[in-house]
Amino acid sequence: MKYISTRGQAPALSFEDAMLTGLARDGGLYVPEAIPQLSHAEIKAMAGKSYEEIAFQVMRPFVGETFSDDDFKGIIERAYAGFGHAARAPLVQLDQGHYLLELFHGPTLAFKDFAMQLIGQLFQTALSRRNERVTIVGATSGDTGSAAIEAFRGLDNVDVFIMYPHGRISEVQRRQMTTPSESNVHALAMDGDFDDCQARLKDMFNDFDFRDGVRLAGVNSINWARVLAQVVYYFSSAVSVGAPDRKVSFTVPTGNFGDIFAGYIAKRMGLLIDRLVVATNQNDILHRCLSGQGYHKGETSPSISPSMDIQVSSNFERALFDAYGRDGGAVSQLMDELIQGGFDVSQGAMQVLQSHFDSGRASEAETSATIRDTLKTTGELLCPHSAIGVKVAKDQPPSATPMITLATAHPAKFPDAVEAASGIRPPLPDRMSDLYDRDERVTRIANNLDALKTHIKGNIRQ
Ligand SMILES: *Cc1c(COP(=O)(O)O)cnc(C)c1O
Repeated sequence: MKYISTRGQAPALSFEDAMLTGLARDGGLYVPEAIPQLSHAEIKAMAGKSYEEIAFQVMRPFVGETFSDDDFKGIIERAYAGFGHAARAPLVQLDQGHYLLELFHGPTLAFKDFAMQLIGQLFQTALSRRNERVTIVGATSGDTGSAAIEAFRGLDNVDVFIMYPHGRISEVQRRQMTTPSESNVHALAMDGDFDDCQARLKDMFNDFDFRDGVRLAGVNSINWARVLAQVVYYFSSAVSVGAPDRKVSFTVPTGNFGDIFAGYIAKRMGLLIDRLVVATNQNDILHRCLSGQGYHKGETSPSISPSMDIQVSSNFERALFDAYGRDGGAVSQLMDELIQGGFDVSQGAMQVLQSHFDSGRASEAETSATIRDTLKTTGELLCPHSAIGVKVAKDQPPSATPMITLATAHPAKFPDAVEAASGIRPPLPDRMSDLYDRDERVTRIANNLDALKTHIKGNIRQ
């Protein structure tokens, strides 16, 4: 299995190299050269299997020769052992034909744990046998950073530095990054906003001496291995409601198009998915684009679903690559236009996109109302991101096809917004109820490339 770049100018890589590289050298994103197929019988046989067994079956064909079957099984076992629910991704019913896929039972209470826990084990296994180490640097508005620190803490071949905007993330998010005591993980509170953190991260990747000197690696949402990990729960949940003998639809709260793109891959592998519905908050570039208004950047406006407050949706490039007939030159040109502000999607590509994806958006008031109403009618307390999914799913035309909405975070991760909407302050699960009592360790750092480089060089293990 080879991986090619969406911009067509970078060398094809193995799974292992695509994973360790992250972003392709031509600025593109890696995608598999061909999508492996699962037959009706193979999907049917998933019924009753454990999450780990399904994960092995779904991901194995993408991994190629990188890991032996036994190694890969061990990686999957270790990745999900720390989850707080035996089913890993349990499904609950909200209404007739409407189900909620709870993806928040991982160690940091957001769906990013599914990908990040796996990536931690994949990196550690690949690097230790190469006898190499890497330095992972990330920028976060909250959930990615905590999931990364949790996934890599204590691993021998990786040092991790996560920059977050000082004073602008929730206390739960901050404590999840600052309380792990392992010496290979480092939380950096930067004086600036999330865009500043991302800009400094980009500067570091563009500084080739530094990049090569510390063996810089990235695990942001464009890393193919992260997308792959998310394909699994589309299969496990669809089979629970009757696939493959019955079609299923999904609604996915999304910002970077990562989670929903994993659903598209599941469909391309042979899972009978009827509709994939993109749900956005007021930062609705994806909804506007899928409604035929082109892909044009606006100003990001902060919302109560901060993990979806983005203007440029990095994984959308992968969908565009397919919609443009896998023409890397065409994608490069679109991405150049995006730097100037945006582009219009060709009619042919728009038809392809609309054949797979629907979309909707929820305002702040609609999000809060959905948290309140869902609690009243089902007893389920939703986080704001998940509420956007539920609202958009309910807006879809009536259908006999079951709808599964992805719940991306635990309500206790966003207690202020949930309490304001519902009157209930959601408690942390028992297994992390001492989070507020643990000691914090964090370095306050200036919004300055040299200061960051000095700090990182001085703190990596050799
Ligand atoms: C990251 C995140 C999202 C958006 O995920 P995408 O990768 O953009 O699809 C939604 N909800 C929560 C809670 C998140 O942490």
